[in-house]
Amino acid sequence: MRILVVEDEKKIADGLEAVLRREGYEVDTVYDGINGLDYMLSNIYDLVLLDIMLPGINGLDVLKFARGEGVSSPVILLTARSRTEDKILGLDGGADDYLTKPFDASELLARIRARTRIGTNPNQDRLAAGDIWLEKSTQRLGGRSNSVKLGNKEFQLLECLMINRNHIMPRDLLITKVWGPLEAAEYNNLEVYISFLRKKLRFVKASVEIVTTKGVGYSLEEQKDG
Ligand code: CA
Repeated sequence: MRILVVEDEKKIADGLEAVLRREGYEVDTVYDGINGLDYMLSNIYDLVLLDIMLPGINGLDVLKFARGEGVSSPVILLTARSRTEDKILGLDGGADDYLTKPFDASELLARIRARTRIGTNPNQDRLAAGDIWLEKSTQRLGGRSNSVKLGNKEFQLLECLMINRNHIMPRDLLITKVWGPLEAAEYNNLEVYISFLRKKLRFVKASVEIVTTKGVGYSLEEQKDG
């Protein structure tokens, strides 16, 4: 699960990043509205924490623009102001929730869990494709006869392929989604993890397989012949 933090007060941003990493989230942090918008437009985030008062473009405008461009990530606005009109503007502008600063870590994490719905509803905790399932809260992959625990990167890769099944996911997009825009992951990292996943799909006797489209990317598809 990858979270974007857009917050110009470095101390708050660093604190948020530390808390989120400790909970096992992948985190990217930027400190102004222009970068915030740029990162949001990649549409790879499972959640965005967006400050309202930002240099460059303010958070409400970032949000409005990103929503206009089809960015669907849940957004929690962070605001120092308790002014009702900001909250209404924010919720009207496509925010899912807001937190008034200062907030404590446990409240923040509870709101994040509510927005990403991990481990609350078993139906939302499990993704399915063909005869396999993927459980978010335990990172387990299951099939006809077995189940197996996935590593973090394997989980993120398979989640992305399952959500977009039967569509070819470009290699660059998968790399950005799993390794983040800041890390220079290599194509062979991706290939290595795809091969791990293929082994695990065979282990659970999955009816789906990861298909390579040479030079383009990967897709999760029903196996052609048993
Ligand atoms: Ca601010």
